[in-house]
Amino acid sequence: MSDEGMIDRSNELKEKITGLFAGSSIVEQLNLVDTLQHLSIDHHFHEQILSTLRSTHAGEFNSSSIHDVALRFRLLRQQGLWVSPDVFSKFKDEDGTFHANIANDPRGLLSLYNASYLFTHGETELEDNILFARQHLESMEGKLDYTLAEQVRRALHLPLPRTLKRVEALHYISEYKEEPMHNSSILEFAKLDFNLLQRLHLKELKALSRWWKNLYREVGLNYSRDRVVECYLWSYTAYYEQEYTRARIILAKIIAIIIMTDDTYDVRATLVECRQLNEAIQRWDESAVSLLPEYLQKFYLKLMSTFKEFEDELKPDEKYRVSFSTKAFQILSSNYLQEAEWFHQNYKPRFNDQVNVSSMCSGGPWVCVGLLVGMGDTVTKEALEWALGCTDAVRACAEVTRFMNDLASFKRGKNKNDVASSVECYISEHGVPSEVAIAKIGSLIEDAWKTTNQARFELPELLPAVQRVANITISMPFMYDDKTDAFTFSSRLEGTIKRLFVNPIEL
Ligand SMILES: [Mg+2]
Repeated sequence: MSDEGMIDRSNELKEKITGLFAGSSIVEQLNLVDTLQHLSIDHHFHEQILSTLRSTHAGEFNSSSIHDVALRFRLLRQQGLWVSPDVFSKFKDEDGTFHANIANDPRGLLSLYNASYLFTHGETELEDNILFARQHLESMEGKLDYTLAEQVRRALHLPLPRTLKRVEALHYISEYKEEPMHNSSILEFAKLDFNLLQRLHLKELKALSRWWKNLYREVGLNYSRDRVVECYLWSYTAYYEQEYTRARIILAKIIAIIIMTDDTYDVRATLVECRQLNEAIQRWDESAVSLLPEYLQKFYLKLMSTFKEFEDELKPDEKYRVSFSTKAFQILSSNYLQEAEWFHQNYKPRFNDQVNVSSMCSGGPWVCVGLLVGMGDTVTKEALEWALGCTDAVRACAEVTRFMNDLASFKRGKNKNDVASSVECYISEHGVPSEVAIAKIGSLIEDAWKTTNQARFELPELLPAVQRVANITISMPFMYDDKTDAFTFSSRLEGTIKRLFVNPIEL
């Protein structure tokens, strides 16, 4: 089908779906919102969804179904609307255990499980819910209908709030027709929309690949990882929507620069050269190129011209954003240098010092600033200052990135020039076996998720930025699934990449 034909048909369907919001009950509306999000077409119904969630939040809700209560809890919390964990009390006895019938309700348990993963610090009852739901869902293995069984299997591996939306949508698009209440207009719209977006994404990916090939050849740093598709994929996890082309491309380029800079500090440069490179990056002026060894000079000039190109792509009142990005890159560079100093002096830092530096070196904090650069009007100077400040959700993103990477590389064994990882620093500082250190890092990752969840309530005016930062955090379990680093060892991602960017869904 031509683009035009697909767009016309989508518009028809979209109108039909919009009509579904009117005249349905609150529970029906919540299920509709869930379906649209699950199929990753919610961006077309932003206003209707927001008004549904806001009015649900303001109103009474008396359902006796744990599925309904948990669904409402999850949808509202994800949207930055606070709901108390007390909503689950009515399903529990006085001693805090769930009523017996809950244990036999797989759909309710799955909703409870996914919802409870929106916990914030100190909400131990939600952690208990997770354990309870997990235990009963595991015991039902083999007894559930196929689609529910598949959803349970995926959720037990990775709960919905930590699942990459587009990848989950691919699964759900093929499962949705089995749902008893499914709506064929919604399904058709989801497929059309996925395919239309895929054409756009593939076009972007091709343009980005040309940019990268030229850059890679021009700067001649052959020791650097050649991973342009993965750079694009990572950027795409922050935003997939049509109107974010500019943001997506800028972020993918930023990630490509991170990889190249990281590999220069880690793999190639001597300590003296690391210091020279950092000095030049801090000066950020073409004249500083003379500080550098010859093999880094083209790279340095290319860095400067790439940032200049970002500026050219922004509107006059947005151009100031690039200076935040430059600053974030300079912070990253000085942390890379700190790691190099530690490594070359064979110094094992204290755990906390190591985490402070290596979280910055994960690239996460710069990605969080960089993802805002090309976005539209929702980005304010406050949002950029918040991201650059590397607090709450940004810090959490950096920690999840760092810790998941460290758990993966601890399993694999390290790179030649890698500094002692958080796992190793913890082991040597506390004199504990590796299992204890790994468990500790795991609990710090959970803390970071709580911080991420909490950030949605603390900074309502920054919510659009917080949600995109959370998307980056959510990409980490995907990138480091089963403790392997898919970014560096990307064969695991190949099938997913083809389904996301190359092979259309059959209509
Ligand atoms: Mg490194």
